Amino acid sequence: MSSEPKKIAVVGAGILGVSTAEWLRRDGNTVELIDRVAPGSPEQTSYGNAGVLANSSIVPVAVPGLISKIPSMLFDPESPLFLKWSYLPRLLPWITRFLANGNEKSVRRIVEGLVHICGDAVDQHLTLARDTPAEKFINHGPYAYLFPSRASYEKDPFAFELRKEHGMRFEEKTREQLIEVDPHLGDRYQFGIFMLDHGWVADPGGYVAALAEYFFTNGGTSWQAEVEDISPNSDGSISIETQGETRQYDKVVLSAGVWSKKLAERLGHKTPLESERGYHMVFKSPSYQPPYPYCLADAKMVATPMDAGVRCAGLVEFGGTEAGPSEAPLKLIQKRFKALYPNMTWEETESWLGHRPAPVDSLPFLGESPKANNVYFAFGTHHIGLTSGPKIGRLTADLIAGRTPNIDMSPYRVGRFD
Ligand SMILES: Cc1cc2nc3c(=O)[nH]c(=O)nc-3n(C[C@H](O)[C@H](O)[C@H](O)COP(=O)(O)OP(=O)(O)OC[C@H]3O[C@@H](n4cnc5c(N)ncnc54)[C@H](O)[C@@H]3O)c2cc1C
Repeated sequence: MSSEPKKIAVVGAGILGVSTAEWLRRDGNTVELIDRVAPGSPEQTSYGNAGVLANSSIVPVAVPGLISKIPSMLFDPESPLFLKWSYLPRLLPWITRFLANGNEKSVRRIVEGLVHICGDAVDQHLTLARDTPAEKFINHGPYAYLFPSRASYEKDPFAFELRKEHGMRFEEKTREQLIEVDPHLGDRYQFGIFMLDHGWVADPGGYVAALAEYFFTNGGTSWQAEVEDISPNSDGSISIETQGETRQYDKVVLSAGVWSKKLAERLGHKTPLESERGYHMVFKSPSYQPPYPYCLADAKMVATPMDAGVRCAGLVEFGGTEAGPSEAPLKLIQKRFKALYPNMTWEETESWLGHRPAPVDSLPFLGESPKANNVYFAFGTHHIGLTSGPKIGRLTADLIAGRTPNIDMSPYRVGRFD
């Protein structure tokens, strides 16, 4: 331990909050994890993701060329992009800034920020989970991108070139090589790019719950409540207010996913964050499983072998955090899954809608608030929150202990939009 033990609250018990709380506890602090739901619950984005520990997911969604494709995507029922049209006026300010970052210069800047929090994800997960009940959920293997043809891969090489530039190793696979391992694969997929040195989690909700259980067993405490306000006091302490109760802490970490924006606003910060809604369907008791996670490059969907069955997760819908799920994305998932495995059978399905916390510049907010000393932000992980959660937890614990992280933290600066 490199500083005096502190009394610390972590608001939000998804993968970011639980990882942060556990690293802070290991530093000898007294840590309370606050959430309105139990860690690992379906209400969390951390419950329903595709489970990929995606070391190579360093390229943002907004890339050169995306903006011109959007109008046709919105009217194509086969496209992975959906919009609740009544939400468009609220979305416009965010989407305009988000798309403005889709130029080569911004993308390269964002990649430099993401590589440091994703690049060693599998090691970071193992370091956090080793000898805990969560360790059993971690699997190693490639992250396999599947394409209808080699030409469709070569048509858009930008993202893979960036990954190569950053030392990410990958192998090409022909159709023959693909079906040697997975003979059930549908004809739609003729070519593969396998990102090496990756991993996946066989039950993301169970994983978060197991990490939290370890944290509680070893002295961490829980407060199940809805946080209404976080406010600094004149003596440097921080108050957390819920309905009917206020508690004080030396330090507070805000890691409430997409819902962090509202609490950050109360502290005087602008954190332009939108819910990028995503879906999953789990095909339970399937007749077979993929050998490792497949990213269906044409469908923007991932099929991951999980304890409960094959989980197909992905797609993008804009419509805010309040509206319920739409039918069309779930139908599309089913259709794409049929193309992946035309002959698969299963017993039942589970479907889920979740909220990726998406900042306009695709970079998370990490570090101490310049407006509220002793309040730290750890949110905004967009598509890479499971991947980067343990590393972000460790970096946050380093900052709180006064240890200087060995990476440049400026891309994630908390006040960058104020
Ligand atoms: C379809 C889909 C697929 C994905 N696939 C992957 C993947 O394969 N790999 C990957 O790395 N990432 C993936 N992601 C992204 C990843 O899931 C998220 O980035 C990550 O889960 C965010 O974690 P979090 O802890 O910040 O938020 P959450 O898990 O959403 O946790 C936030 C918590 O804060 C609590 N909270 C909020 N407000 C309050 C309040 N006022 N008071 C009390 N509690 C509060 C909530 O109840 C919640 O428990 C995917 C996302 C989606 C939607």
